[in-house]
Amino acid sequence: MSGKISFFKSVENYVDKAASYTDIPRGLVEQIKACNLVLQIRFPVRVGNDYQVIEAYRVQHSHHRLPTKGGIRYAESVDQDEVMALAALMTYKCALVDVPFGGAKGGIRINPANYTVEQLQSITRRYTTELIKKNFIGPGIDVPAPDYGTGPREMAWILDTYQAFRHGEIDSIGCVTGKPVTQNGIRGRAEATGRGVYYGLRQCVSYAEDMAKIGLTPGMEGKTMVVQGLGNVGSNTALISQKEGGVKIIGVSEREGSIQDLNGIDVEKLLAFRRETGSIIGYPGSTHIGDALAALEMECDILVPAALENQITLENADRIKAKIIAEAANGPITADADPILQKKGIVILPDFYINAGGVTVSYFEWLKNLSHHRFGRLENRFQTNAFARIVSKVEEMTGKTITDRERELLTRGGTEIELVNSGLEDTMITAFDQIRETLKQHPDIKDLRTAAFVCSLKKIASDYISMGIFP
Ligand code: NAD
Repeated sequence: MSGKISFFKSVENYVDKAASYTDIPRGLVEQIKACNLVLQIRFPVRVGNDYQVIEAYRVQHSHHRLPTKGGIRYAESVDQDEVMALAALMTYKCALVDVPFGGAKGGIRINPANYTVEQLQSITRRYTTELIKKNFIGPGIDVPAPDYGTGPREMAWILDTYQAFRHGEIDSIGCVTGKPVTQNGIRGRAEATGRGVYYGLRQCVSYAEDMAKIGLTPGMEGKTMVVQGLGNVGSNTALISQKEGGVKIIGVSEREGSIQDLNGIDVEKLLAFRRETGSIIGYPGSTHIGDALAALEMECDILVPAALENQITLENADRIKAKIIAEAANGPITADADPILQKKGIVILPDFYINAGGVTVSYFEWLKNLSHHRFGRLENRFQTNAFARIVSKVEEMTGKTITDRERELLTRGGTEIELVNSGLEDTMITAFDQIRETLKQHPDIKDLRTAAFVCSLKKIASDYISMGIFP
């Protein structure tokens, strides 16, 4: 929150602005904006010799498509306004990337670092029990996933609790996504959000005429990047951008402060250094440049805030020097800071587009769970044999032969991870191009965020209209 305006209200304001570029009836816009269900939970947990009352939420923002979908966050910032805003962003995100779900979000107001693994497990299981009691979870109702402060471990606890209550429910494994691969998860989910950020950025910088406007050449190779937050999203964005895109990571920020090395930081080594020492400060070759916000002000081509909301505010917006900001975190730029950045000509890739990789691959996981088999299992061998017959025929007709390695590459069917990544890549490319096309169709829209909201709103409105709810 900026202090003046709530996070949820700022999402509503963006939607109102986008709606003014459409002919969607006002009443329908109001329905789309409204949070459909809000569950507030309080339950006790034993900590040492005492009990603590835990504050938790689950918000289902939109039921225009079911199930609803969205992560569960464990953070001290969690309150009803934050969860409502994040649930709303999920609705627009799913619509934008054609994932057929309504938006939802959950949150528990704790700092996981203050609890033992056993306590975290009992909090997670109790929270899940509350969701089950209120009919707020299920493969066709509402499907949680990881978010800030949670990961595959918590998702496995949620699944186990759900199955204990819903023994025999055939699709129960689809009640939560982001599970460990060994617990009916899907390969590629853990890094999906960061990989999606990379694909979205790569598509954005591929247009020479757009890049010329901000003084950049097209392509990821050699671009400089600063990342805030080395958690799931931030570390995977940095790793993949470095390895696959040839991007130079020149600045990193974590809770303990910011470091820079203009020659480039090896992210894999930095992650190992932090695991060992508990901090990024002191990483060989780097300079400690200040607190967790300091790196945001570095001169760079791409800035990736990947920690929490409200990092770029009225206070520091004027000092941001990046050419492109990829909002890997949800809501890292406050509503009042956004126009300042735009005036500076900074291209902002909005959160509900650029971090949509997680929900996209969660959707693939859910499909895998409901189909009860691994992608590729049925068709892989058939495809390999079919391709092999084509290759043999071409060899026969040309009189030339290829090597065994070449034959293997040409004939094998896709593995699960290859299918997941290609589906994710296609989703991020298609959505970016739709947003860019919308900008072109509306020369009065100046920013990608408004254009992205226009795309989402039109899709959601068309769902409501096709249901016969609105004329
Ligand atoms: P995470 O808990 O894995 O990582 C967050 C990281 O940020 C941690 O390493 C933490 O120490 C660091 N951090 C906290 N405060 C900081 C500060 N002030 N400065 C610098 N670093 C700080 O969380 P995550 O899953 O990577 O989520 C990060 C953001 O991405 C959140 O806004 C979340 O909603 C969003 N997001 C996550 C997913 C997902 O699949 N996990 C999907 C979409 C969006």
